[in-house]
Amino acid sequence: MKLHVLFCGTMQVSEAVPNGPHIDLFRSPGALLAPGGKRVTLPVCAYLIEHPRGLVLVDTGWCRDISPAGVYDARAAAKVLPAPLAAFYRPCLPAGMAVHEQLGRMGISPRDLACVVLTHLDPDHVAGLRHVKDAGRILVSEDEYYWNARTVYRYRQPWSLWMEYPVQRFYYKGSPLGTNRWAYDLFGDESVMLINLPGHTDGLAAVLVRDGKRFALLTSDAAFSPRSWQEQIVPGFGYDPGLQRRALQWIREMAETEGCAAVLSSHDPAAAPCVIEI
Ligand SMILES: [Zn+2]
Repeated sequence: MKLHVLFCGTMQVSEAVPNGPHIDLFRSPGALLAPGGKRVTLPVCAYLIEHPRGLVLVDTGWCRDISPAGVYDARAAAKVLPAPLAAFYRPCLPAGMAVHEQLGRMGISPRDLACVVLTHLDPDHVAGLRHVKDAGRILVSEDEYYWNARTVYRYRQPWSLWMEYPVQRFYYKGSPLGTNRWAYDLFGDESVMLINLPGHTDGLAAVLVRDGKRFALLTSDAAFSPRSWQEQIVPGFGYDPGLQRRALQWIREMAETEGCAAVLSSHDPAAAPCVIEI
């Protein structure tokens, strides 16, 4: 199998987002907007898995409408996202980097995708869904979908980005994997496991891609860089720091497991577009 790491734009966020301290959306929502002025620019990744059973896209990055000229455009961003979220993310999508633009250069049309897996429903992971809505299936965990009703997600996960598309829910089942010991076996052969790591959101799915003992783990936003799990630095953006810490402990165990080819986070500033053979 091949795993393609795709850069689908950037976000310029408060440095508390990757490195803490915890941002309390109810008590101090202003913290999202980096009141001290300190922001960091992070990539927004999606992944393409070339699997024998079909092409799997994991997450979708930003959409072209959010950054029409390929630069940060506050007015355009505020048309796609609620204004506070647009100001939080400062999204940018350089020319040619939207997910469908990149797939097109690889000779892949959205209809060629067996499925799109949404690791969770935050905008930087689902905004590009409009470009790949014709994929065979679009999947999100039942828990993510259900808990989207939780009040805090009113601020985080606007329905306009995904609700009108044919998103199917998958149900986690008992598994030895993950902190919740819940996972979904995408193809029924344990080669792609969607593993619940709650903390950043309730239903977040990390993605384990494996062939025998060799594997790669996509942490989604359960970690923001290797620093997160190596130094156990809990990202500031999440609904439950205690669960986030447990997720980091599990990711560290996986990173130290024999056969680990890569552990990749969606917003690692040191990451680079590449292809990993599993
Ligand atoms: Zn994210």
